[in-house]
Amino acid sequence: MVGVLALQGDVREHARAAEAAGARVISVRRRSELDAVDGLILPGGESTTIDKLTRIFELREPLRERIAAGMPVYGSCAGMILLANDIADPAKDMKGEAQQTLGGLDITVRRNAFGRQVDSFETELNFAQLALPGEPETPVHAVFIRAPWVERVGESVQVLASVELPADEQTGRIVPEVRAVAVRSQHLLATSFHPEVTGERRIHELFIRMIRGEA
Ligand code: GLN
Repeated sequence: MVGVLALQGDVREHARAAEAAGARVISVRRRSELDAVDGLILPGGESTTIDKLTRIFELREPLRERIAAGMPVYGSCAGMILLANDIADPAKDMKGEAQQTLGGLDITVRRNAFGRQVDSFETELNFAQLALPGEPETPVHAVFIRAPWVERVGESVQVLASVELPADEQTGRIVPEVRAVAVRSQHLLATSFHPEVTGERRIHELFIRMIRGEA
C-alpha cells in the first residue's frame, strides 16, 4: 500500500496518479497510517509548512526512522526539498529558525531556483529508468512550479533527468549550465517537477516498481 503524506500540498493529485499506476493508496496524517504503508509520496506544496506540520502532527521522528530503515519514498518539488540532506538557502521563520528537512537523500537543493522571472515553466525531459524492457524511451512533459534544482549530488545518487539553462546575460551565465531535476538513491526518488498534474504515470509506475523491489 502506498501512502501520500497529507499535511499540505497536492495530495489528491498524487493519490490519483498512484492509483492510476496500479497502487492502493491511503492518506497519511498519523503514525498508525504511516506504519501501514510500504512506500510514501511527499507531495508538492510548501516545504516550510510541511516541515512545521510534520512536527505538530508528531510525524517527524517516525518519518525519519522509516526513511532510515529503507522505506521507499518519492518526493516531488517541496517533497524533494524535504528528502534532501541540505538546503542551499533555507527559509527562516519569525524566530530566525531555519526550516528543516527530513533528509535521507544526499543532495543539496536550492529552493525556487529557477528565479522569479520564470516562476513556472514546462519542458520535455529525457528521463532514465522509465521505459520497461522493449519499450521505447519517450520524453516526460515536465511542469515546474517555483521548483528547486539539485546543486550537489552525493556519490550514492544517480541523476535521472536534467535541465539545461541557456546562457543569459541577465543572470551572468556566460555558458549553458546543466541542473539535475530528478534523482534517485536506492529507495529514494525525487523530482523537481510535478508529474502528478500532467497525466504522466511513468514516474509513479517507477516508484511502485521500486516498492515492489522490481526497479
Ligand atoms: N517553492 C516551494 C517550496 O519551497 C515548492 C514549490 C512546489 O512544491 N511546487 O517548498
